Amino acid sequence: MNTPFIRNHQLNVIKKQAEFLQKTLRTVADRKVLETVRYSAAAAILDAFPVLTEEQKGRLGQISGFETAYEFQRYLGALESELEPFPSITAKQIQKLFPKNKKLKLPELSSIDFRFVTYLGWSDIATNRLFIVYPFNGQFVGIEGRITPTHKKGYCLFCNRHQELAFFSVETKAAYASADNISRYGHYVCLDNEACNHSITHTEALEKFILTARK
Ligand SMILES: [Zn+2]
Repeated sequence: MNTPFIRNHQLNVIKKQAEFLQKTLRTVADRKVLETVRYSAAAAILDAFPVLTEEQKGRLGQISGFETAYEFQRYLGALESELEPFPSITAKQIQKLFPKNKKLKLPELSSIDFRFVTYLGWSDIATNRLFIVYPFNGQFVGIEGRITPTHKKGYCLFCNRHQELAFFSVETKAAYASADNISRYGHYVCLDNEACNHSITHTEALEKFILTARK
C-alpha cells in the first residue's frame, strides 16, 4: 500500500493531461507531434507536485508511453487509490470556525467524498451566503460571504473554467478606516462548488483569496 500523496487538484491536472493526450492519440498521426504531446503531458503532471520521490516520478511519468484507453484507465484508477483526502472535519469544528453565525447551515458531511475536495464549499440559499473551509498548515480557516448569482458564464477565480458564475464578496476590515470600518473583498467564482472542485488544478488563487478575505 502506497502512501497517499496526490491532492484533488493534482488529480485534476493528471485527468486533464490524460484526456488531452488520448484525444491527440485519436486524432493526430504525426509522430513528432505525438512525441511532443506525450512529453509535455508527463512534464505538466510532474510540475503539479512540489515534491516527489523517484518512484512516484516514475509512476506518474508512465503516461508518456500509453497507447490504449485501457492503459489510461488503469493508470487513473491506480492513482485514485493514492489520493490524499481533505483532512477530516466534524460539524462541531466547522461551527467553531464561524462563531458569529448562530444559525449556521452546515454542509451534508456524510454525503461528501473528501478525496475529491480541494476546498470545502457550501452555500445557504435562504440567506445567500457561501462558506468556504480550507486547511492551512494543519489548521482550518473558514470564510463566509454574500453570494450573488450572475446568471452568466465566465471564468472562475478558483478553477479558471468557463462556468456559471456568482459574485462572492466577503466583509473585511478596511485597510484604511472608512465610516463603518468595513470594506468588501470579492471575486467571481463558480456557483457550483462541487463542479469547481472537479475543475480546480491550482490552489494559488484560492489560497490568496482566503488569506485576503479572512479577518
Ligand atoms: Zn470554479
